Amino acid sequence: MAEQRTTCAIVGGGPAGIVLGLVLARAGVDVTVLEKHGDFLRDFRGDTVHVSTMTLIDELGLWDRFAELPWKPIEQARVVLDAGPATVADLSRLPVRHPFIAMVPQWHLLDMLAAAAEEEPTFTLLRHAEVTDLRRRGGRVTGVRWRDRSGEVGDTEHDLAAYLVVACDGRSSRVRDLTGLPLRDYPVPMDVWWFRLPRGEGADPAGGLGRVTEGRFVIMLDRGDYYQVAYLIPRGADAEHRRQPIQTLRDDLRELHPWLGDRVDGVASWDDVKLLRVTLDRLRRWSAPGVLCLGDAAHAMSPVGGVGINLAVQDAVAAARLLAPVLAAAPADPAAVDRAAARVQRRRWWPTWATQTGQRIAHRGVIAAVLGESEQAPGRERLPLPLRLLQRVPALQVVPAYLVGVGVLPEHAPSWARRDAQPASAKNSSALPSGSTNDSAQP
Ligand SMILES: Cc1cc2nc3c(=O)[nH]c(=O)nc-3n(C[C@H](O)[C@H](O)[C@H](O)COP(=O)(O)OP(=O)(O)OC[C@H]3O[C@@H](n4cnc5c(N)ncnc54)[C@H](O)[C@@H]3O)c2cc1C
Repeated sequence: MAEQRTTCAIVGGGPAGIVLGLVLARAGVDVTVLEKHGDFLRDFRGDTVHVSTMTLIDELGLWDRFAELPWKPIEQARVVLDAGPATVADLSRLPVRHPFIAMVPQWHLLDMLAAAAEEEPTFTLLRHAEVTDLRRRGGRVTGVRWRDRSGEVGDTEHDLAAYLVVACDGRSSRVRDLTGLPLRDYPVPMDVWWFRLPRGEGADPAGGLGRVTEGRFVIMLDRGDYYQVAYLIPRGADAEHRRQPIQTLRDDLRELHPWLGDRVDGVASWDDVKLLRVTLDRLRRWSAPGVLCLGDAAHAMSPVGGVGINLAVQDAVAAARLLAPVLAAAPADPAAVDRAAARVQRRRWWPTWATQTGQRIAHRGVIAAVLGESEQAPGRERLPLPLRLLQRVPALQVVPAYLVGVGVLPEHAPSWARRDAQPASAKNSSALPSGSTNDSAQP
């Protein structure tokens, strides 16, 4: 079995893992990201890039590259209830450089970030690398064991020794399970059907559009020539609903949005409709000696507000800022690494708790009510009071826009990770010196 060594092993190349790797590598920390897939082409990932993430992209000097990706801006979130339409949030009112949410296929975003990270000499991305176990010594995690899934001939089992293992492997985190860190699971009222419908130019609504009526809640996200549809169903109802002919779903969509016309036939069969199970949970403790969990591995987010990617990225930036000074010291002091890892939870717990609490309130107060767990779905005869208020005083639409677009406690790139905007070919050289306690690297 081949053994390799790194300073920080990051398990999972999603938004949390790639951003953590990029920012740590810019401090000169030796990082290895292990991603079990060969590419980032996964359709089920969310595609929203929020205001605070775009600010970070700016600070990291990557805006020019981001601007070249195929994204669409969403400035307003609107909902149509039986009582009429309403604008819920207006991001164009935010006093920021990028006052919108960018809808960008996540694989493009991750490709761009990974390419920027690979320009740093201390960054390594291992694709087809599935972490299967943790290495331990004296009660401390000292690395990972991983399997090469590329199918190429040679060793398939490898050991990677590390001062710190960071679990960024999502809501079914293998690393988290192996650590046995205590997890708190919250009930959710819904699962999501995820499918596409063709979108025409012209009169078709742009941006994000919600449709709410008794028993049904559908969100359509404008992705240019198609809509990404999130159709909410009661938790656990998938198998029962799928016994109906697919025409039932098409009729339903046409009834909710008559303007769709024959385009509902774009859902050819149930095979086109993916089930995404919604989870909302949070670790009580995010770290143990030698290991730290971030992003969905620490706190799986509901799709409400589409904020999971943003939170994962904010976690990663805060973690890099707190960990870089201790990881850049050679050799890293295990006790100092563990203290820094514990500080990451203290920094990110409050925004995570606040965001998940908002999602749980939306689950109970809106989604459960609409999907039939309460007597009366909201908005049948008149718009609910908060929506009436938002229509009467449109300036207030900046409040939900801020909460969703910017969020609680946005993080900023540490000064040593910042770059001026650069074309893809430019290479970076400045790094946090080994052992530096550079003030600008401190939280
Ligand atoms: C139905 C639904 C819709 C959503 N829509 C949105 C949205 O529109 N916008 C939004 O912001 N958020 C959305 N979210 C939430 C969002 O997808 C997550 O919060 C976000 O992806 C978390 O990022 P992450 O980097 O922590 O984990 P992930 O994105 O899950 O990345 C984890 C990575 O780890 C890899 N991995 C897993 N196990 C291993 C292993 N053993 N070894 C090596 N690699 C491994 C995976 O392949 C993956 O690349 C949605 C969630 C759901 C359920």
